[in-house]
Amino acid sequence: MAEVVVVGSANVDLVLAVQRIPRPGETLLASDLTRGPGGKGANQAVAAARAGASTSFVASLGADDGGALLREALESSGVDLSLVSTSGSPTGTAIITVAADGENSIVVAPSANADLKLSAEASTGISQAKIVLSQLEIPLSTVQAAAEESAYFILNAAPATDLSDELLAHVDLLVVNETEAEAIAGKDFNDLLTRVPAAVVTLGADGAVILSRDAAEIRIPGVSVEVVDTTAAGDTFCGVLAATLAAESTTPRDLTNAVRRANVAASLSVQTAGAIPSVPHGEAIDARLA
Ligand code: ATP
Repeated sequence: MAEVVVVGSANVDLVLAVQRIPRPGETLLASDLTRGPGGKGANQAVAAARAGASTSFVASLGADDGGALLREALESSGVDLSLVSTSGSPTGTAIITVAADGENSIVVAPSANADLKLSAEASTGISQAKIVLSQLEIPLSTVQAAAEESAYFILNAAPATDLSDELLAHVDLLVVNETEAEAIAGKDFNDLLTRVPAAVVTLGADGAVILSRDAAEIRIPGVSVEVVDTTAAGDTFCGVLAATLAAESTTPRDLTNAVRRANVAASLSVQTAGAIPSVPHGEAIDARLA
């Protein structure tokens, strides 16, 4: 059984290179169009596997070219696909614009992701995993079911939305960027702790902050790098965080060590274009950490 189970989305990313993100009502010409594997769930599963954790992915793919593209990318990164189901709907698609300064904007058509439910085998895999990691590009009822069956549940609450107390009651660690943190608890990030026992707020180039009911706030500074494309930075962070926590044998888990490694991994991912192609391997992360 896998140490890390990722329950989440898989999308074909259509990436448009633009000078800047278009304003509402504006049409721009792109200088390049590429098609590649992505989706928060798939990116996070690849990040966990490349960081060294045995990783299984629970997802729903279409029986189409996009599904085949994703299967190939996930399998070649060492992600177990035995819990992936095939839907009658097409594979999810994301339209991503990436600006010259590395900033991006994303619109997702969920398609097959909207059909994801937990099979009996998926529930078994989830209940036996050390760490289960999920996001919000799949039905909330599926996220809730996974949370209830997990020994340690990490929720990356992206895309940004407020969440029910019923779901947050099963979250051991919340990972959010600043926009997502505000959607859940308002401007004071410490208020996240009224809803979950621990949270990591990612701060882009400024790194991340760890908040926990049991300890004082810890800031992990950003790593100064040349940004090419920030797509999948947050996903790399989450996958590597899950993999690093799964490798720890002590309880309570050492969040600081895991967030440091995730922060370095995410800083490596912003230096390469694309989603899955930009996710670093464990050796590269640990070489940069040393
Ligand atoms: P994205 O949606 O672009 O994947 P996000 O909005 O979910 O990212 P961010 O807080 O922007 O999350 O970034 C996640 C992590 O990626 C940061 O905590 C940091 O480790 C790394 N990171 C992001 N941008 C930079 C940057 N410019 N320089 C160095 N590290 C970065």
